[in-house]
Amino acid sequence: MRKVYFDHNATTPIHPEVKEAILPFLSEKFGNPSSIHWAGREVRAFVEEAREKVAKMINADPSEIIFTSCGSEGDNMAIKGVLMGNLKKGRHMITTVVEHPAVYRTCKFLEKFDFEVTYVPVDSYGMIDPEDIRKAIRKDTVLISVMYANNETGNIFPIKEISKIAKEHGIIFHTDAVQVVGKVPLDVKDLDVDILTASGHKFNAPKGIGFQYIKKGVEVLPLISGGHQERELRAGTENMVGIVAIGKACEIAMETMEKKSKEIGELKERLEKGILERVPDTVINGHPEKRLYNTSNISFKYIEAEALLVMLDMQGIAVSTGSACSSGATEPSYVLQSMNLDPLCSRGALRFSLGLGNTIDDVEYCLEVLPPLVEKIRKMSPFYKK
Ligand SMILES: *Cc1c(COP(=O)(O)O)cnc(C)c1O
Repeated sequence: MRKVYFDHNATTPIHPEVKEAILPFLSEKFGNPSSIHWAGREVRAFVEEAREKVAKMINADPSEIIFTSCGSEGDNMAIKGVLMGNLKKGRHMITTVVEHPAVYRTCKFLEKFDFEVTYVPVDSYGMIDPEDIRKAIRKDTVLISVMYANNETGNIFPIKEISKIAKEHGIIFHTDAVQVVGKVPLDVKDLDVDILTASGHKFNAPKGIGFQYIKKGVEVLPLISGGHQERELRAGTENMVGIVAIGKACEIAMETMEKKSKEIGELKERLEKGILERVPDTVINGHPEKRLYNTSNISFKYIEAEALLVMLDMQGIAVSTGSACSSGATEPSYVLQSMNLDPLCSRGALRFSLGLGNTIDDVEYCLEVLPPLVEKIRKMSPFYKK
């Protein structure tokens, strides 16, 4: 059976050049970079080389990059580390209602320990208004955390504007940029963010590695204490395989970003237009323009998205109902619910996210297979009267 992978916002395949680069670290280059002897020396330089590649991609200084295990760790570190490190200033933070669970649930966790969180709403496009963030600022606000792009809708938020508001009030600003890093050019100096979270497996490195940009002078406590690794901000023997991989993935992203975004963007346009043309009663969710080039969240009215997901899967096509972390639940995602969509729409929403390896044949195959499946499900639906 043909296999088509349209779920790159959940995870991505490892780039062949990344795989090539990590092979020695799965065999002869096994040393601990903290060791003084030859085995340690042999690998140490590769950690710093990878750090330089990461820093270069986002225009940071290498000393401002900390390797982590994943995006979730980065989000936890940013939020818990900033709040715990700034207790003298206050216990309040601001975020949005559409953050990834790694942010959202961390906030909920902290509320149990007497921290206070303001969740800024979104409009029906799933966009936030920076003015709502300004209005939520209090004397004791320590942190603002807003994702760069939403994983379900692909919406890109006005990060530069928000960071300016944070700066005007002397508040630390964190952005979860997991869906943006490696896809879109990014300059932390221009954005003027204090902390930025990224995850390797979302841009063609393996799972189990991420990085954190922490601007010089920003006060953050470590989430994991122990050895002296990563400037004592993240203890634990370095994940050499992951670190080399994410460095290589950044290097590849820098070289290919422009071409890839154009190619994948065209495929996504073709898929999106094709579905809207061929299937009646479909709606695009998210902002009409300010969206990631690879993401399309489409509502198929009068159907349950899970039913379509399973039938597409039987034809070899992998898509998502939104957040992978909420799969299994039949409730529409909280991101779509917060946009106040017609329930007919939020129940039937599927996310198509494209990336490395997708071809025009994948798109054509999906456009051939999908419309009759939708028709079949709708015929069984008591809500569908056509
Ligand atoms: C995937 C994702 C995360 C979590 O990253 P992991 O590396 O899987 O822990 C956080 N935020 C966003 C926006 C994501 O898409």
